Amino acid sequence: MVGLKSMQKVIVIGGGVVGISCALKLQDDGYDVTVLEPGQPGEGASWASCGSIAVSEVVPLSKPGTLRRAPGWMLDPAGPLTLRAGSALRVLPWFLRFAGNARPSRIEAISREISVLTRTALVDTQALLASLGLSGLLRHQPVIELYDSARDLEHERAFHDARRALGFELEEISGAQAAEMEPSIAADFARAVVLKDWRSVVDAKRFVAELHRVFVERGGQVRHISAQGFAREDQKVVAVQDDRGDTHVADQFVISAGAHSRRLAAELDCSIQMEGVIGYQTSFDDPGVKVEHGLIYAKGGFGITPYESGLAVAGSIEFAHLDAQPNWKRADILVQKAKRVLPGLKTEDGLRRFGRRPLTPDTKPIIDRIPGIENVMLATGHGQLGVTLAATTGRLISDMITGRPLPLDMAAYRVDRF
Ligand SMILES: Cc1cc2nc3c(=O)[nH]c(=O)nc-3n(C[C@H](O)[C@H](O)[C@H](O)COP(=O)(O)OP(=O)(O)OC[C@H]3O[C@@H](n4cnc5c(N)ncnc54)[C@H](O)[C@@H]3O)c2cc1C
Repeated sequence: MVGLKSMQKVIVIGGGVVGISCALKLQDDGYDVTVLEPGQPGEGASWASCGSIAVSEVVPLSKPGTLRRAPGWMLDPAGPLTLRAGSALRVLPWFLRFAGNARPSRIEAISREISVLTRTALVDTQALLASLGLSGLLRHQPVIELYDSARDLEHERAFHDARRALGFELEEISGAQAAEMEPSIAADFARAVVLKDWRSVVDAKRFVAELHRVFVERGGQVRHISAQGFAREDQKVVAVQDDRGDTHVADQFVISAGAHSRRLAAELDCSIQMEGVIGYQTSFDDPGVKVEHGLIYAKGGFGITPYESGLAVAGSIEFAHLDAQPNWKRADILVQKAKRVLPGLKTEDGLRRFGRRPLTPDTKPIIDRIPGIENVMLATGHGQLGVTLAATTGRLISDMITGRPLPLDMAAYRVDRF
């Protein structure tokens, strides 16, 4: 069986955190794997992330508070969510589906379905890293979410209770206790929640780069080309066509090109509901403050992560066309707001990045075979949870390609659910 599989060739399209995690698991299962990645490892959405293994981040973004506040945020240039001029009409169908997921019954169902995946996310990530000799890429501290007032926390309480009911560990503490845990934060936060089962990676870009390095060391190939289309024979894809006009033959294919997966799936007559939602990160080599835990400023809608090379401030939700250029002002606004959390933060010489989260209207990823095609899998739509769910997705994709019995019902992550 292993001998037969070792002759099978898999092409993984996209070498972000999700694609490379699929590639590594498939490689481990005996396949001959090639990753097609036009850019540098991790420079898609992955490198702009907060790098958290955010296991209890299961309540969908369509929760009522987001929808209620969205119009006000969009009118405020410094608000956490914005829509680029010219994008409104295009985003409308997506947004209507998103709004349809704000009903309490949908929130509850989606939270449960995301939790089925995130429940094993930390163990899956730890197992993947241990198998690659990369356990040092994970920090051991939990993440602390900070609230200006008891009222702000009260608005979120039902969601925190829902997370607890699903088995996740959240501990409410006072602002003073939070300041004891993290002496660099402002002393006047009223409340905080310790997200006890979260962890963070030591550096979002190096995380992906190291996965690539080990993949190549173990015989995997990375081709720096962009997939453009597919050659088909009946119900199968036989090759990927690249941007240079060359074709790449394989037995199985995985589309994991982040926000660009939608266009590739459309080449196979598969329509995906997904937006590439821009977020920004600014990192500081010399932040002037010492921080041990990942921090989230609930009201500001951003996170602060201690990376090995310094500190990164990341967040913002911006709907824009896939070709849109970044609006760096939004990154700068986050940095200014970060001083509310860390008054001593030195904000000179920040390095700015942006990435497009591949976000579905129900916040759930798509982990499925393309309908009507036997040998093309989709591993995309991970939204704000790609780093968290990469290892879990890789395991499930490899299970599906290998034909192993699946440990869970995959109906909730199907591509035709919209
Ligand atoms: C500000 C911000 C904060 C975040 N914080 C977190 C967090 O704390 N925790 C968490 O879990 N997630 C977080 N995320 C989300 C996470 O970064 C994404 O979900 C994740 O990076 C998606 O990974 P991916 O591999 O699907 O896509 P990407 O990382 O975007 O990778 C896709 C890759 O496909 C390649 N590609 C594109 N088109 C083609 C093509 N035609 N052919 C071949 N390759 C192609 C691209 O070059 C790219 O490298 C955050 C995101 C942002 C923006």
